[in-house]
Parts: sequence; C-alpha cells; structure tokens
Amino acid sequence: MSNLEANPEQVDLCGGVADASPPTFDPLEARQVVLTPRVWIGPDGRPGPDPLTVLRFMPTRGRRMVGAWCFVDFYGPNDVSDSDGMLVAPHPHCGLQTVTWLLAGDILHRDSIGSEQLIAPGQLNLMTAGHGIAHAETSVQPHSPTLHGVQLWVVLPDADRDRAASFEHHENLPVWSDDGVSATVLLGSLDGVTSPATTFTPLVGADLDLAVAGSARLPLRPEWEYAVLVTDGSAEIDGRPMARAEMAYLGCGRDHLGVSSAEGGRALLLGGEPFSEQIVMWWNFVGRTHAEIAEARATWESGNRFGTVSGGGDPLPAPPMPPVTLKPRGRA
Ligand code: MN
Repeated sequence: MSNLEANPEQVDLCGGVADASPPTFDPLEARQVVLTPRVWIGPDGRPGPDPLTVLRFMPTRGRRMVGAWCFVDFYGPNDVSDSDGMLVAPHPHCGLQTVTWLLAGDILHRDSIGSEQLIAPGQLNLMTAGHGIAHAETSVQPHSPTLHGVQLWVVLPDADRDRAASFEHHENLPVWSDDGVSATVLLGSLDGVTSPATTFTPLVGADLDLAVAGSARLPLRPEWEYAVLVTDGSAEIDGRPMARAEMAYLGCGRDHLGVSSAEGGRALLLGGEPFSEQIVMWWNFVGRTHAEIAEARATWESGNRFGTVSGGGDPLPAPPMPPVTLKPRGRA
C-alpha cells in the first residue's frame, strides 16, 4: 500500500522485532463529526437542540487501527439537560464489536436479538455484531444532565467475523492499581488483570483514573502497539503533557508506560497485537471486499439480515455506495 511505502518506519515499528522498534509518541488529530439531524432527531421529528459533536480519532488518514481497535469517537462532557440527549436510531453492524463506555450519563441499548440494557459509568456494553445485528442507542427520559463517553469498535478476525451476534453487559470489571493510578480493564488484559468480556484478538482497553499527584508505571507488552486518549483533566504520558481530548499513538516496543497527573485526570489506554488483516470499513460495516460491503448495505435496505429493533425510532437508511470500488486497507 502506498501508505506504508510513504512511512516505512511504521512497518518496522510493529514488525514483531520489539527490541529493534523504538517506541513513538505521535499525536493523533481528530476530525469533528457532527451527528447529523438524520441520526439526531427529536421524538417529534425536529432536530435536537444540541446536536452531538464528537471527536473522531480513528479512523483518520494517519491511523486506522491500534491492535484490533478500529474506531474511536470521544464526546463530552455535554450538557444535555435541556435536550433529548443521545438519539441514535436503529442501524446495522457486521464484522466488528461495539464497545460503549461512559464517564457520565446514561444510554439505553436496544438490539435486534432482544437485548435491552441501560448503561451507566463504569459499566461495559459489548455487542459482538458478527454476521449481523442492528441496535439503537438513546437517552432515556428523563436522563442524566451530562453525556460524556467514548464509542469504540473492535474489528473481528476472519475466523470469527461471521459468528452469530451476541450482547454482553458487565458491571464488575477488574482493576489494576498502583500509586495513585487505578486502571479499570474493560476489555482484554493489562499485566495479568483480565476483563470478563469476550475478545477475539489479544488486546487491552483500560480506563486510567489518575489521582491528584498520582504516578505509576503501567506494565505493557513490547510486541503490542498502544495509544492513549486523555478523557478528563490532564496527564503526563511517557513524560509528555497531554490535555483532555488529546490522543497519542505510542507504537510498539515498550515494556512499561509512565503515567502521572499533577491535577488528576482520566485516560483511556488502548492497545493490542498489531492487526495483520486488511479490511474494508464503510459506514457501520467491516468486511474484506467491496462486494461484501455492498451486500451488507443491500440486505440492510431490504430488511433481510440484521433483524428489527423494537423502539429507538425509524431505522437509519444506509447512505449510497461510493462511486469508487472500496479497497481493503491495513493498519496505518
Ligand atoms: Mn452502532
């Protein structure tokens, strides 16, 4: 891929030779994405008074994946006390897992296999889309005045991407802790502390709670790549100051990561074994070819494959297919 040729260092960086791969610290630039009125419609059809603006850190032009993590939206804290809150109508997914993690607020998940689950901060909603599922994510009425969280996707490897859809909710997640730093492991493993949630590739997602003047060394795996998103307050990551809503790619080759905070903060650590398969990601689908994506779109439109969500509004229509052939792409 021309991407890799333009940046050959990144090929070496996670080529599996950890001792020859210097770690990096590359700030990731987010795109502002305003959830359009089509996905943000009040109960009477009017646009919500506060359209939700999210920061999309992945995929962006420079970075498409960290481990199997392939999508990172960060939002809030937003004051939704006078608005309808989150109203994402039923839409399909395939080939991935969706991970919902809140710092504040509450969201009701409903899906086409009959799950209905309210999620609160500190809890994990994990939907394994596999061959196909549809879901809606909406605020309840009345709802918490603040909405603050992340929406993440994890790509499924080829062997598991056509499995039957499933949904998990976890309220008791394990915590790794050291001096002034506690890390809730929502997915995967950190230093032997393992989330009960189902995963299909070696990875980690951990919410770091940094106390005022907290400082710790997080044990990492040199053969994995990592990234950090500061979600609240501020932090020093590997000695570099990071503010809220900043994300950095850290590369491979680290056996630990220094994290500290003078004023206190929260940060999300994402990492995993570099994902070797090339994927096609379009709208809410992950596949391997243009034809698979076109079929997923067609079967959503015809109502055949993804099932029906009860509640959450009218299903979102799929956007038209792009005029070009979608090509499989790798991590960077
Ligand atoms: Mn979704």
